[in-house]
Order: sequence, then structure tokens, then C-alpha cells
Amino acid sequence: MKKNLSSENFDEIQVAERKYLRENYNKKLKIQILVLCFFTIFGLILFRNNKNVLILSFFNKDVNKQDDVRVLGHFPYQEISEKNLVEIEPNILVHKDMYLSLIEMKKDAEKDGIYLVFLSGYRSIKLQKEIFYSLKSLRNQNAMERARVSAPPGYSEHSTGFAIDIGDAFSRETDFEVSFEKTNAFKWLKNNAAKYHFRLSFDKEQNSVDYEPWHWRYEGSIEALQIFESSNRNFVDIN
Ligand SMILES: [Zn+2]
Repeated sequence: MKKNLSSENFDEIQVAERKYLRENYNKKLKIQILVLCFFTIFGLILFRNNKNVLILSFFNKDVNKQDDVRVLGHFPYQEISEKNLVEIEPNILVHKDMYLSLIEMKKDAEKDGIYLVFLSGYRSIKLQKEIFYSLKSLRNQNAMERARVSAPPGYSEHSTGFAIDIGDAFSRETDFEVSFEKTNAFKWLKNNAAKYHFRLSFDKEQNSVDYEPWHWRYEGSIEALQIFESSNRNFVDIN
């Protein structure tokens, strides 16, 4: 006899057989609950052990989205309005918000016998264009090679007014050179720049842009932090 569990036909089944069917049904339910519990526990263990990996891979999706806006490893930056620029030294302009920190840092360094030289501050996108394309042809480099040492126009932190290139007054031969990292000025900056809200933009850890020990950026205002938000997210990913 074919057994059908639909409610219309259930009453027609003999009592002994009903019990058998109920038991069978309960058994199936128990197995389903056990399987569900097993996968839930297994899932929780997997999440606990790989929490960082799972969270990071979720986070990386965001980072990858940010990667899309980069050109040859550089993030896009708007040109600062001229009214926000002040001259810190003849022909060197910087954002007015970082002016005092920069002056204070230079003075404090002098107290320690370190003489910082400001080499380059704000650069217009027009100037960046000239630098990028003239040096590229001068050095017989293609865009990709040049981008390792200089940002393409529209992609330089210098156009925000919050970037400053620094040298050592006693080692001018190291200006814009990796050897600047051997100077006392660099050592001092490494130990003290953060107190004045400056950080190295292109450190040794990242591989898309060459290491630039002379190039520092200011992160001591909300505006500056917002500007460098995408770049900082990328730092989190690397470190
Ligand atoms: Zn620079």
C-alpha cells in the first residue's frame, strides 16, 4: 500500500502505521537540525580562525575600487585655490593650514642642530605637466618609468599645497635623492615629523611609486585628511 502523508489521507492510515510515519518524520527532522547545527558550528570556527582574512578580503574590495582611480600608482588631486596659499620661502608656496606647523618644525629642528631646507611646496597642475613631460623626454623615459619618480599632472600631492620636499642644509647633494635618508635631517624627521603632523608619502613598503625620503605631506587638518583618505586606505592595505 502506497503511503501518502497529506492531511486528507493521513486519517485513513491505520494507527500503528501513523506512529511509524510520525517517528520517521521526527527522525528526518532531527537529522536536518543536526546537519544545520554542524554547518553553523563549522562556519563559526572558520570565521573565528580566518576572521582577519575574511574581513580584509571584504575591505580589499573597497581598496581595489580605490585602485581604479589611480594612474600609474598615483591618486588624483585637485589644485588648491590660490587664496589658500602662503609663501614660506621665496618662490615656495604651501597651504596656509600647514604653514605654522612647518615653521615650528624647522625651528625645533634647528634647536637640535638640524637645518631643514624646503625644496618644493605647491606646484600647479600646469607646472607638474611641464616637469612630468620635459623630464620624461630629457631622461628618455616612458610615462610608466617617469611615474615612478614623478606624479603625472593632476596626480601630484604638491597640487594640494599639503606636500613639501625637504633637504638637509649640510648635504645639498642629497636633494631629491634616496641618499637623503642617510642625512641627519632625515633621521630627525623620521623621529619627529609626526609631532607636527607630517608623514612620509612614499615609503619603502609600497611598490608602485619609488621611495621618496624627501617628500612629506601634512595631515594635521580635516581637509588634508579628507584629501589623503584614499591614499591612507591604501597604506592600511599595505601595512
Ligand atoms: Zn615631492
